[in-house]
Amino acid sequence: MILKIQIGRDNPILRKKSVKISKFDKKLKKFVKQMIATMLAKNGVGLAAPQVGRNERVAILNFQLGRKKFKPIALANPEIVDASMETMMEEEGCLSLPGIFGKVKRWKTATVKFQDEAGNPRALELDGLNARAVQHEIDHLDGILFVDKIEGEIREEK
Ligand SMILES: [Zn+2]
Repeated sequence: MILKIQIGRDNPILRKKSVKISKFDKKLKKFVKQMIATMLAKNGVGLAAPQVGRNERVAILNFQLGRKKFKPIALANPEIVDASMETMMEEEGCLSLPGIFGKVKRWKTATVKFQDEAGNPRALELDGLNARAVQHEIDHLDGILFVDKIEGEIREEK
C-alpha cells in the first residue's frame, strides 16, 4: 500500500515535533513496510513518518551501499550522537515540497543512534548521501523542512 504524502511548507503535520516510538509491535512493522513501499514508489532517498501523516519518530533511509546499490532501513528514535567538524553544501529536494530545490549545509559524516523495528539499539556511522539524508529525515521529526535551511537561491521546477 502506498501512503499519501503530506505536501506544503506550512502543513501543520510537517511542522509538528514528533513523539518517540515506544511500542515495537506488529503495527509498527506494518507501517514501516508501507513507508518503504511509498519511498520506493516515489523514488525518494528517505521518508519520515510525518510526511505520511504520522507524528512519530520513525524514518526510512534508502541506505546507499554502493554506487547503484541501495537497501531501505528503518530508524526509530534516531539521534545524531557524533558528527564531523566538516560540512558540505549540496542541493536537496523533498517529496513533501515537490519542484523545490536548494543548497543546504550538512555535516559531512554523522553517527546516528537509533532502534530497529524490533526495538534493538543500533548505531551507524554515515557519510556522503547517507549522512545527508539522515540529517534531512531527523529534521522532519522535529518539524524542520530543508527550505528553512537553504543557503542561496531556491530553485523551482514545474
Ligand atoms: Zn524531506
